Formats: sequence, C-alpha cells, structure tokens
Amino acid sequence: MTFNIPFDNTFAQLDPLFYTKLAPEPVAAPKLRAFNRDLARILDVSEGETSEMAQVFGGNVVPGGAEPLAQLYSGHQFGNYNPQLGDGRAILLGEVVGQDGIRRDVQLKGSGRTPYSRQGDGRAWLGPVLREYVVSEAMHALGIPTTRALAAVETGETVWRERGYPGAILARVAQSHLRVGTFQIFAVRGETAALKTLTQYAIDRHYPEAEGPMGLLKAVRDRQVALISAWMGVGFIHGVMNTDNCSIAGETIDYGPCAFMDVFKSNRVFSSIDRGGRYAYGNQPQIIVWNLAQLATALLQQMEKPEDAVEEATEIVHAMPALLHEAWLNRFRAKIGIEGNDEADEALITSLLNRMTDGQADFTNTFRALSDGPARDQFADPEAFDAWESDWRARLTQEQDPVAVMQATNPVFIPRNHRVEEMITAAVEGDFAPFERLNRVLATPFAHQEGDMDLARPPAQGEVVQATFCGT
Ligand code: AMP
Ligand code: MG
Repeated sequence: MTFNIPFDNTFAQLDPLFYTKLAPEPVAAPKLRAFNRDLARILDVSEGETSEMAQVFGGNVVPGGAEPLAQLYSGHQFGNYNPQLGDGRAILLGEVVGQDGIRRDVQLKGSGRTPYSRQGDGRAWLGPVLREYVVSEAMHALGIPTTRALAAVETGETVWRERGYPGAILARVAQSHLRVGTFQIFAVRGETAALKTLTQYAIDRHYPEAEGPMGLLKAVRDRQVALISAWMGVGFIHGVMNTDNCSIAGETIDYGPCAFMDVFKSNRVFSSIDRGGRYAYGNQPQIIVWNLAQLATALLQQMEKPEDAVEEATEIVHAMPALLHEAWLNRFRAKIGIEGNDEADEALITSLLNRMTDGQADFTNTFRALSDGPARDQFADPEAFDAWESDWRARLTQEQDPVAVMQATNPVFIPRNHRVEEMITAAVEGDFAPFERLNRVLATPFAHQEGDMDLARPPAQGEVVQATFCGT
C-alpha cells in the first residue's frame, strides 16, 4: 500500500471515556466515485492508486497511522434531549495537519455499525453521500465555513430505506467533530472532570486565545453568528439544527435534509421530518441562540461555583440576537451593494424581501440580477420592484462600487434542489456526469459560466422539490 495519509492524532489520546475504538466494517466491493484533489493538496494527502483509495475510503483497509474510533455525544433533537447519540455510522480515522497549519479530522460516514448505532444499520446510501459531497463543496466555494468532502465510495452493497439503494461512504473532513452535544453528555451525567478535559481540548484545538469555559462559549458564539448569517445570505436551510449537529468549530456540519431556497419565503421548510417548522429558514437565527444556551448550560457544570458564572454565561447568550441581527444586516447590505451604513438600510432590505415573497421571486437570481439585470423580470408584478428600485438607486449614490460588492456577494450558482435530485437519480443509474458537472460549476459560483447557465435556472413548475427526506 503506497497511499498515505499523514495522520497526527490527538483525540485518540484522550481518555477512552470520549469514544470507542473500533475499525470500520469492511464492505463487499468498494469503488471510488470521487476524490477531491484540491482538498487533498491542502491536507498534504497525495493521490494513491484508485483501487487503494477505494479500499481505504471504503473502510476495508485501515491506513497506517489511523486510530479509528467512534465518538460519543448526546444532544437535543427537535428540542427534546436524547441522552445518548454518538457516531452511529461514522468512524474517525484520525487527524491531519494541513499545509495551512490547520488540524482536521478525517472521518468515514456510512462505515458500519458502532456501539452507538441504536436501531440504525450504520450505513448510508449513494444519494445523501453525493448530496453532502456537492453541497458541502459548494458551501466552501461560496466562502461559508463547512466540513468538506475528500472522497466518495460506492460499497457494492445494498442499503435498505424505502427500497434498496446502492450503499456509499463519504470521507468527510472537518476542523473537528466536536459538537454542542459532545459537551452536553458529560454535563448531564455530572462527569465534571471529563467536561473540563473536553473544554481544554476544544480551546487548545480551536480557540487558543480563549480563556476558560466562558471564553470558549463566547468564541463559539461569534463563529456561529458568522456562520448562520452566511447561511441566511445564500438562502440555505440546514434542516436539522439539533445540538448534536452544531459544531464547536463553527462549521456547517451534517448535511441531511438541507436545501437552498428557490422562491423566497421566510418560513420555508424542506425537511420532511420537521413538521412544526422548527428549523425553517427564518427561524435559524433563533435556534442557534437556543443551541448556544444549551452549550452555556453544559459548560457551567464544570465551574467551582456555577452560580458565580451564570451571570456571565447569560450575558454572552443574551448578546447573541443583537450580534446576529448586525451580521445579518451587514450581509444583506452587501447583497444590495451597500458597504456603508445608514439608518434606513434595514427598511430598504426588508421592503425588498417582502416584495420578493409577494412576487414569488427567486432568491439567488433576484439578488444577482440587481447587478447583472434585469431584476424586475424576477417579480410576478414587476412594478412592485420598480417602486423599490428608485429608493435603492438613490441610496446607492452614496456608495463607491456597488456592482463589485454585489457580484462578490451574490452567487450565480447554488446547488439547486432539482439539480441535486436529478444528479442523484443519474448516479443511482450509474451516470456520474451530472455529479461531476455540478462540482465543476459550483467550484466558481460567482462567475457566469457560458454553456452551464441552465444550472442557474430555477425549477420549472414540475421540477420543484417540495421536501428532502431524512432517509439518509
Ligand atoms: P443525524 O440527525 O443524521 O445527525 O443523526 C442523529 C444520530 O443518528 C447520530 O447519532 C447518527 O450517528 C445516528 N444515525 C443516523 N443514521 C444512522 C444509521 N443509518 N445507522 C446508525 N446510526 C445512524
Ligand atoms: Mg448528526
């Protein structure tokens, strides 16, 4: 075996309390379907023989230096505390320090059963694996913090959901897989020493400048503020913002029934399991505050006198809505070409968004059309846009280069649901050309790409995807 990943593991050196060491379950006939050379370069992973990489990313061969393990965590799912979750179908192979000096986890998702699998089969099917590959890489290209996709393998086995599907594994890369739920489980169990170890580990790994548990809380808050406002700016709906899917490093993690909006609607939900709309587009800024409050509660359990720190924790959490609002406002200012700030900007933005909802306007294409034109064509009633446009043009006279600001903020391409679903259907039939095309086009989402503009087109009536199912 010449394929080499330069592992340098730290999590596996922590107390076994935090994980179970075990190897991935081998698969029947692994076939490499994707390998991300750009990411491999950053990680300092050189490309191996296709067959060797298929064996490694399929879980059949544990590469040298790996210390495979499943991580333990818990979390609030749709608001209810589940006392034990954990990697039920994922194995952390180990960590690598990239050429950029950043330490990252390399994890296999869909790699078989673990002690935390509960009723699950430990597997994933090709559809969700390719969706996560495409969408996470698109997020990265959009400049939004996210886990990334290093490789995708088909297992040669059948995975049973509503029917049989081709099984697959995603090799996922993250700054870490520490979640709010990783802290919750030890806090709820009253395992203070473990909680302290974990807190120090997270500080050392992600926020070396942070002081103590409250410093960590504040650092996570600030990263999540940046993350959620970035999601809002591209119309992204995560779909399952449970505390176990909320990363301490502030990356988008666990792409399940996620989606980008086409027509703008603040209460838009895609996840078929989110019946109450808890994780609707417009609720995401509230939910992240709720999640941070859970982290605060967990971190407090390690304080000598929690009552002394409650006030500080409360202040950190209470400051979050205003920070989110500020970040949201600045992002949407940029979307309409504004770098400065004026009292009236918020009303201008809200007015546009309301007109977009009323006019059934496509979120991505409307914003892009503000710089590239014609935007009025995006609205069912173009005159509603005309009325807004004159106020907006008047505001832009105070700006230096609004077109450049808008073109750097508003993508031409997003992974549109109907294209993602079409890509999955083709891949299940053995045709990976749409998958490769999406990856290529979405790698430069801010540029017009002649010959691929059909991927910027919103779904026609019959193409609209109403829900993404959780049968992942
Ligand atoms: P999620 O909502 O997808 O982030 O998953 C929640 C929990 O369910 C995590 O602990 C997962 O590891 C676990 N899980 C999801 N799908 C499976 C599966 N097919 N087999 C075993 N565990 C799973
Ligand atoms: Mg999860």
